[in-house]
Amino acid sequence: MNLILMGAPGAGKGTQAERIQARYGIPAVSTGEILRGAISAGTELGKTAKSFMDAGQLVPDEIVIGIIKEHLASDACKNGFILDGFPRSIPQAEALEALGVKIDVVLSIEVPDEKIVERMSGRRVCPKCGASYHTAYIPPKTADICDKCGNGLIIRPDDKPETVLNRLFTFHAQTEPLKVFYAERGLLRTVVGQEKVEDTTALVFAALEQA
Ligand code: AMP
Repeated sequence: MNLILMGAPGAGKGTQAERIQARYGIPAVSTGEILRGAISAGTELGKTAKSFMDAGQLVPDEIVIGIIKEHLASDACKNGFILDGFPRSIPQAEALEALGVKIDVVLSIEVPDEKIVERMSGRRVCPKCGASYHTAYIPPKTADICDKCGNGLIIRPDDKPETVLNRLFTFHAQTEPLKVFYAERGLLRTVVGQEKVEDTTALVFAALEQA
């Protein structure tokens, strides 16, 4: 299955991608995660991406398209993949089509803006392994420590309230039009994000299993 996961920042794409990955055995490719890795590694790519990410804006298309091209060509993706956070604009979706990548399903996780702002304030991430937590909804076993690798958890720099508002603006202006793009191709399925992660996961699995 070749899947695109869509949704506002903080809608739970990353968390649901982990669950789908575990159930279907296909890798999640997160452009945000890859860019954060490049920033931590101090590469040229990371340096270029950082200013856009810190401002809550999209990183230029040619950068993320290059990343996706490289990952989708890898052996790991040959039996399917989950795109988490790509495409995020119509030109990116067109580039994916131009690469000849066949998409089976586009799943949009819908969460109202007010909820997003509330959720982002509690989000904590592990800078080492990328695992994501929420102080109220998905707390780590020990406060501020990653369950998976024991590293200290941090607040993502782009989860600051003013950046979150910019990211939401960017989402509505540039990413949301993709819903019409994929609905026209008969690929769009939507799920309403629930309070509890497991409840959203159940809806996600049901949507993916729908014929
Ligand atoms: P995410 O972890 O998916 O929320 O992404 C974090 C940030 O990385 C976004 O706010 C963008 O600045 C950047 N980013 C991730 N994916 C893309 C993409 N497909 N196109 C442009 N920028 C992206």
